[in-house]
Amino acid sequence: MQHPRELLARVFGYGAFRPGQEEIVEAVLAGRDTLAIMPTGGGKSLCFQLPALCREGVTVVISPLIALMRDQVRSLREAGVEAGALTSGNTDEETEEVFRALDEGRLKLLYMAPERLASGNTTALLRRVGTNLIAVDEAHCVSQWGHDFRPDYLRIGELKRALNVPLAAFTATADEETRAEIVTRLFGGEAPATFLRGFDRPNIHLAFAVKDSPRRQILDFAGARKGQSGIVYCATRSKTEVLAQALREAGHVACHYHGGMDAEDRRSVEVRFQQEDGLIVCATIAFGMGIDKPDIRWVAHADLSKSIEAYYQEIGRAGRDGAPAETLTLYGPDDIRLRRSQIDESPAPADRKEADHARLNALLGLAEATGCRRQVLLGYFGETSGPCGNCDICDRPAQVFDATEPVRKALSAVLRTGEWFGAGHLIDILTGNDTAKVREKGHDQLPTFGVGRDLSKTGWGAVFRQMMGRDLLRPDPERFGALRMTEAARPILRGEESITLRRDTVQASARPAVKSL
Ligand code: ADP
Ligand code: ZN
Repeated sequence: MQHPRELLARVFGYGAFRPGQEEIVEAVLAGRDTLAIMPTGGGKSLCFQLPALCREGVTVVISPLIALMRDQVRSLREAGVEAGALTSGNTDEETEEVFRALDEGRLKLLYMAPERLASGNTTALLRRVGTNLIAVDEAHCVSQWGHDFRPDYLRIGELKRALNVPLAAFTATADEETRAEIVTRLFGGEAPATFLRGFDRPNIHLAFAVKDSPRRQILDFAGARKGQSGIVYCATRSKTEVLAQALREAGHVACHYHGGMDAEDRRSVEVRFQQEDGLIVCATIAFGMGIDKPDIRWVAHADLSKSIEAYYQEIGRAGRDGAPAETLTLYGPDDIRLRRSQIDESPAPADRKEADHARLNALLGLAEATGCRRQVLLGYFGETSGPCGNCDICDRPAQVFDATEPVRKALSAVLRTGEWFGAGHLIDILTGNDTAKVREKGHDQLPTFGVGRDLSKTGWGAVFRQMMGRDLLRPDPERFGALRMTEAARPILRGEESITLRRDTVQASARPAVKSL
């Protein structure tokens, strides 16, 4: 067997392993079933390519992305490695060449789209050519609840049993539920050696800001980075178009990208982004999988992502070359409402929805963090660390205050009005603003009326947003988004627990009210 470190330098031209890579390579080489969770750009492909070269026989690589398979095959071949792919994108000659190399026992890596597994003779073929390892890229595609579900991934477990060879699965999706699903479906429930490593991307600066004038905020952020390649993620298709236009008017080179465009237009944006320097793409999350540009210098979120995993995957596209990269995520109560209602309105079963709310909560916790953001983020992925020195809170520590009193007042306003109202009306009550609606409902007669005059309307807005962020209040889709108290709030209401909130966002939001884009 060839030594992995020697091949690392000779074939791949790398001086050292990246964090996590060596242990994974060792486990795979030892023939263990392996599940590796690494962030996008962490260097997953090496973890199966290197063992493939060291081991006898063929390694089958299952991947959902034809373009990435072709790229990997091309660069392996350039490095002198016998690799081939069987995908629908092949010419007849390419396919013939793959079969010839297999028959002659030359091929080390055989890439394959999952659809291929549906054909009955694939298992026999793989057995005949001496397959001794199955590598599964984007293993989360086996998760039926996930975004990227590929039904043919469900056949992989069967293939593993039929060939009786080790399997190495790779994914950037770290949440426990998806992990458990991968273990059940790919490994038949037998725990593989699991590696969760290298989640830190220390070169990426993390920052969040309360959304007050989003278009201005994005223009300012991009304006300070003129000429650099960046992505602006938006929650809606129309916003990608509006923002790209605004950026162009501000003198940037910018275009939009979303799933409603035809394939050719999307492809042309992808190619431009890959090739040009300094292009800004305003996109929905349709833009991402398969983008492999190392020098994306910044990623901004004009709207909050749907979960902490999605957030990390999206910002993880920046700075893959290891050079400094910047991020900015805007968020506000509307984002929380939007994401909550998307979860509530999905056809998923109740326990699934609760899990999705929890993943959204994790992201909101990060948005409202009072300490180093990276500590919070890595903590979620199971890593402990000290303050990072490369996030907005490390740059400028958050001021916090004991918000137990205002939070109890807010909860009391919610309960005394029967949990039937949104933040706007509740804040009118708290600040003693006797609007027509307040009078009509008789809410000026409540004991809570006017008890919150010490805080401004925007200050209360920040308190309500943070309460929603902490999941103390949740909009109820069956009550037109009215805020209802959650169980988590009960101890605070009873005076059994106190709560601290960020003061800077309470004050910072004393700027103009939220303007929509
Ligand atoms: P992903 O985990 O997203 O699949 P890749 O395998 O594409 O990531 O690797 C991301 C980048 O890191 C690639 O450009 C690759 O060449 C580079 N890379 C991987 N391992 C190393 C290493 N040990 N040293 C230096 N660069 C590496
Ligand atoms: Zn930090």
